[in-house]
Amino acid sequence: MRGLTKPASEGGRSGWGDVGGLNDVQKAIQEMVEFPSKFPNIFAQAPLRIRSNVLLYGPPGCGKTHIVGAAAAACSLRFISIKGPELLNKYIGASEQAVRDLFTKAAAAAPCLLFFDEFDSIAPRRGHDNTGVTDRVVNQLLTELDGVEALTGVFVFAATSRPDLLDAALLRPGRLDRLLFCGFPSWHERLAILQVLSQKLPLASDVNLEAIASMTEGFSGADLQALLSDAQLASVHELLDHNDAEKTNQMPARPSISEAEKQ
Ligand code: ATP
Repeated sequence: MRGLTKPASEGGRSGWGDVGGLNDVQKAIQEMVEFPSKFPNIFAQAPLRIRSNVLLYGPPGCGKTHIVGAAAAACSLRFISIKGPELLNKYIGASEQAVRDLFTKAAAAAPCLLFFDEFDSIAPRRGHDNTGVTDRVVNQLLTELDGVEALTGVFVFAATSRPDLLDAALLRPGRLDRLLFCGFPSWHERLAILQVLSQKLPLASDVNLEAIASMTEGFSGADLQALLSDAQLASVHELLDHNDAEKTNQMPARPSISEAEKQ
């Protein structure tokens, strides 16, 4: 578990500037997390329950985990993050207790964002697990999510690429009831992602990110990141080859036999 005692922004994450595209998702999170603290008077006059629990869903590599970390940093929330399989493996036989502990820890750390990544692994439909472990975990999650409303400043986020596997009770109003889709990026989003991911790279003057965005239809953010990593590695090889070639050129030429004979 990666639990931060400081706000995530102090852990080297820079917030929304790290995210390319996903504007609707970002806007929804901002409204939910930032508006109540920015405009307390307006919200006091409209005493409706604010949904503060989110399920992010969409294909792998499309920024679900990434945007949650950025949100915690941008909104100065402490960040407690756990991957579903980690929770099951690490706490064999004590998974429900681990869930309880996480919510207690989040309440103590408020304002805090508690994030369950790979949520389908701990929250599948009940009645299909012979061991009963995940059934018990789901029951515990339901109990905790029902109680989270009473906690101020605790935002529960979960992410999955398989929302169809989840126990439907978790998605009922009052629980993880805000569903936000992170899909494959459009051309504009790919360009924005490439710009964000390459902002610290020394790009050659002939690199055309718009052209790369056009050539990468169907790529996820993770694919674009891999593309840039490959390009970076290729340019390191090029540099090494270039240096080797220069060294060879600088070496004194071996004297020819006739020259050696003369000496
Ligand atoms: P999975 O379902 O496999 O867990 P995911 O949707 O959570 O995938 P991330 O882990 O958030 O995907 O993305 C993988 C990497 O791709 C990130 O660490 C980031 O570098 C890059 N990335 C993805 N989407 C974006 C984005 N919108 N802006 C900037 N970087 C992105």
